[in-house]
Amino acid sequence: MSIKMDGKLVAHQIKSTVKEYIERNNAHLDLTIVQVGNNSASNTYIKNKVKACEEVGIQSTVLRYENIDEYDRCVDIPDTLKHITGTGAMLQLPLPKGWDENYFVNLIPSRQDADCLTEASLGKFYSSSNPYIAPCTAQGIIDLLDFYNIDIEGKRALVIGRSNIVGRPIAHLLETRNATVTLAHSKTRRSDLLRLFAISDIVITAVGKPDFITEEDAYQYNKDYRHDFYSYFETKSNRVIIDVGINRDENGKLCGDLSEDFKAKYSEYYSPVPGGVGPLTVANLLYNTVKLHHQEHKNDQDNV
Ligand code: NAD
Repeated sequence: MSIKMDGKLVAHQIKSTVKEYIERNNAHLDLTIVQVGNNSASNTYIKNKVKACEEVGIQSTVLRYENIDEYDRCVDIPDTLKHITGTGAMLQLPLPKGWDENYFVNLIPSRQDADCLTEASLGKFYSSSNPYIAPCTAQGIIDLLDFYNIDIEGKRALVIGRSNIVGRPIAHLLETRNATVTLAHSKTRRSDLLRLFAISDIVITAVGKPDFITEEDAYQYNKDYRHDFYSYFETKSNRVIIDVGINRDENGKLCGDLSEDFKAKYSEYYSPVPGGVGPLTVANLLYNTVKLHHQEHKNDQDNV
């Protein structure tokens, strides 16, 4: 029987820690969210972030730029990002088509970079074997594994997807916890990918394609590689599957990169979509804001 991991429960615990820190220190924390354009998925994510801030007592401000002209793109928005106020700040992605996201993200001062996505923050993150602050989704995955007491050390981990937001940072965090990590991507041969899936203890999917691996793939793989007992695609294995994907199926329903049935069949623990990694991304945005506040006021505040 496979265990469905409860991301909401773990997120609730993180939010309680944030709330406790604010109350204990009688601290004022604020988070500024900059949005450019009017992407409907972004509107939903921002709404969730604002609501989460309210729950824990962080003041949030949303700076929304709609109907943008050249002046906004070249002067106003860069200026806002460079001189942003607040304990923490973040730029909601994606930006409008053709905008250089890297350029705009990097304008946020690293002392306020609540997403931990600027080059300065990532430089510290990747050069540390015990990073103080981490990109929110990657940290959320580690929180989920820790909550369920899943051993990481010495495990074979497969991360599918190599984005700067999810794939790369989670590969780094798993490696710092002594897993043996393989990072797969769009150029990975399909047969290699299935074989790696079959032999991995921990699989993280961050692709953005529903039904990325199916029951049929597993069946076909076992048929093709039936003499290779080492890499048999086992159903009752002690594999952990963390599904980061947020997609819409053909009926418009929210789904991950893998179906819920598939995950339940090929794992001992798996994260659902929705209710898995998503709530932890938001909770870690709040937690990162606390860490930034703590760093700024180390001498007069309690520990985080
Ligand atoms: P991205 O588009 O930047 O990256 C997708 C990655 O998938 C790429 O690195 C690409 O190499 C890889 N990929 C594509 N096709 C592949 C294939 N056939 N085989 C192997 N790898 C392949 O996306 P992202 O920002 O990393 O997001 C990935 C998914 O995670 C999306 O669905 C996104 O909505 C979701 N997401 C969820 C959260 C959350 O909080 N749950 C946070 C961020 C992103």
